[in-house]
Amino acid sequence: MKQRIQDKFKELFGQGGHLYASAGRINLIGEHTDYNGGYVFPGAIDKQLMAQIAPNGTDKVRAFSLDYNEMCEFGLNEEDKPAKAWACYIFGVCRETLKRGGKVEGFDTVFAGDVPLGAGLSSSAALESCFAYAIDTINGNGFDRFELAKIGQSTEHNYCGVNCGIMDQFASCFGKAGCLIRLNCKTLEYKYFPFDPEKAGYRLVLVDSCVKHELASSAYNKRRASCENAAAAIRKNHPEVEFLSDAKRLWLEEVREEIPEEDFLRAEYVIGEVQRVLDVCDALERNDYETAGEMMYQTHFGLSRLYEVSCEELDFLNKLARKMDVTGSRVMGGGFGGCTINLIKKELYDDFVKAATEQFTAKFGHAPKIYDVVISDGARMVE
Ligand code: ADP
Ligand code: MG
Repeated sequence: MKQRIQDKFKELFGQGGHLYASAGRINLIGEHTDYNGGYVFPGAIDKQLMAQIAPNGTDKVRAFSLDYNEMCEFGLNEEDKPAKAWACYIFGVCRETLKRGGKVEGFDTVFAGDVPLGAGLSSSAALESCFAYAIDTINGNGFDRFELAKIGQSTEHNYCGVNCGIMDQFASCFGKAGCLIRLNCKTLEYKYFPFDPEKAGYRLVLVDSCVKHELASSAYNKRRASCENAAAAIRKNHPEVEFLSDAKRLWLEEVREEIPEEDFLRAEYVIGEVQRVLDVCDALERNDYETAGEMMYQTHFGLSRLYEVSCEELDFLNKLARKMDVTGSRVMGGGFGGCTINLIKKELYDDFVKAATEQFTAKFGHAPKIYDVVISDGARMVE
């Protein structure tokens, strides 16, 4: 990828510039916790976006996407928003940097990536973080990594029509090889935890069901409403409960008769999930991948039966993982489709991937996609 990018850059713009990169992400555990003020536990992966970038002495950006084989040129003023969707991410990062008082010179760039698009690995955050970091470095703006993550998030909100949380950009900007990062979504405090499954004899593999069921966005809003309703009921007894993640299991029990059964189950999942993130962090500090894996299964159970955001394809993959002694497996992301994330002993890897591919294809009529992931560095200058 690096060579292709640099060759194309030379052809289009000549010598010069530097190579920057950022990464997609996984989230080991901590699902549907972000909007409840709880923890998420992401890490950057070895699926990346890379860009060769050089200032061009103008007030224009000339960007070439190798993956789309398209060129796009745009100015840096608000009215210069490009028509191409991919270019809006770069334009948005420029605009959000300027809005924060940063300097942005025009530049030339050629970029490419191997984060699969729309698979739940956040290729868009990789793109934003790479450019946010590069533009910051080139112009000497000195924003901290949190600000760079927010530049990416605001780009999604203001220029790409996606109302996302901070996790994806946070993981891309803060990612470190061999570490996952526990982020408290309420306080934005974060802490690195060692995560190097390869060293302990495990691998991390995603199985992409390649389905996306319609329900997703309306169900998402309903889940949020249930959580807020449960939190409000608990707050009457315990005023310190700002978000559902602040509540204890016992406090939920106190309001069981006051709230709809459905809201109770949703809240039960969330409160359990917040605790599971903490338990996994403790386990990883002891290098205990078996406990971490067991928690992933519990999360899947909760997402499937209590939160009800799984689907037939994902439950099928989870059940197969359990049957084959995979250490941990759960649906990753919002649900109703997308990937399962699997923590698996190295010696079981080949059999599992083969069985998942064959049995899923036989049942659902299309093959799943397999992504091996290794926890890697996030936004950085490569050379
Ligand atoms: P994801 O879940 O992967 O973040 P999104 O729909 O949020 O999916 O973002 C995907 C979009 O990001 C693509 O449609 C494209 O506009 C842009 N993008 C991501 N990676 C690349 C790339 N390598 N080259 C060009 N555009 C990219
Ligand atoms: Mg995205």
